[in-house]
Amino acid sequence: MSAPTSAPSIDPQIQAAQNLRLKRMFWGFANHGCTFLVVAGLVVGGFLAIEPVVVFGAASILMGTLLVLTMQSGLNLRFKDPSLTMIQIVWPILPSLYVMYFVTLPQGRTVFLLMAATGIMFGALGLRRHQMLILAGIYYSTYLLLIAALALTYPERVYWPLEAVTLFAYASLLSIAAYLGAYISELRMQLRSSNRQLKTANIELVELATRDPLTCLPNRRTVMEQFEREAARTERYSPGQKALGISILDIDHFKRVNDTYGHQAGDEILRKVSQALENTVRKGDYIGRIGGEEFLLLFPDTSPDHAIPAANRIRKAVEALRFDELPESERVTVSQGIAIHQPGETVAATFKRADEALYQAKNSGRNRVVAAGIDNHDLA
Ligand code: GH3
Ligand code: MG
Ligand code: MG
Repeated sequence: MSAPTSAPSIDPQIQAAQNLRLKRMFWGFANHGCTFLVVAGLVVGGFLAIEPVVVFGAASILMGTLLVLTMQSGLNLRFKDPSLTMIQIVWPILPSLYVMYFVTLPQGRTVFLLMAATGIMFGALGLRRHQMLILAGIYYSTYLLLIAALALTYPERVYWPLEAVTLFAYASLLSIAAYLGAYISELRMQLRSSNRQLKTANIELVELATRDPLTCLPNRRTVMEQFEREAARTERYSPGQKALGISILDIDHFKRVNDTYGHQAGDEILRKVSQALENTVRKGDYIGRIGGEEFLLLFPDTSPDHAIPAANRIRKAVEALRFDELPESERVTVSQGIAIHQPGETVAATFKRADEALYQAKNSGRNRVVAAGIDNHDLA
């Protein structure tokens, strides 16, 4: 039997963008609805027959439905401009021109030109300068064609002195609207691009503030914050259940390594040791660099029985490393001080106990693990 297939989930960001597009589309419909009211007003005033209005309404509903279906099916995402800005602005011109042709009074047509101005404003939502100019050109040339058609078929409906002034006013309005719209649109695009840059810069800043640049491990502040969080989480368990173990790990005689083989070799060793630590700990354990050659390891959900062998595994993994920067016989070793966070204890107190255990590990010969409060100090 085949496993049931779940419907493909849509990326929430794409879904949010689609919702915004649909919202803007409905603004466009509202704008077109206003044109419809203007048309209805002309019918009531006796300047327009009802038949062209029926065609106007039917064409508008059909086009509107097609657009909604395109958006809702996600077909619009295949277009270069998924908002279909140009299509949404241009299509209402056709039914409007059609109905204008039947308006008997020349002044009656002027109201449509006012509505055209609102249409071109939508271009500010996403068109570039040349697209705005093309749009203005489409508005103007289609109006010129209408006047030419009227002059040929119903010359009595064209009153030339008024038409000349209207054409001039329409040209001025379209040019200004196109330029201002393009300006606003460009500002929007610049804003979007700087927002994007700001987001990337923010991510980089967070990285810089939380990671150690040499080893790429979480830095002191980050690992200490994680320590606080893990300690608070562990407090929720009843005593005897899971505990939080920590280990302060320090590279042995690192000053000598630096002094003998150079600071660059020291840096490379720090990087490789960090990698080895990352590769050796369990999934869910956490490591941070808390100082020069000191690291803090967090072992959540553990117990001394597990934390000590885990620390020893890490110790042996570092001891087994070979470095191109060092002679074959030279080994890098680490000492660790372990403590188990006690209920009610502050993280500072747990840290202090682990640090004291580390001090003991150093004093008793290095390359070893000492656990605070446990007699068997070296369970290698
Ligand atoms: P111990 O075994 O007692 O820990 O001895 P140690 O030499 O490791 O300790 P000490 O604190 O005396 O020296 C630590 C050295 O670590 C000093 C410094 O040169 C080196 N160190 C600290 N940070 C860096 C770093 O980012 N890069 C390099 N290359 N060396 C570092
Ligand atoms: Mg050291
Ligand atoms: Mg040290």
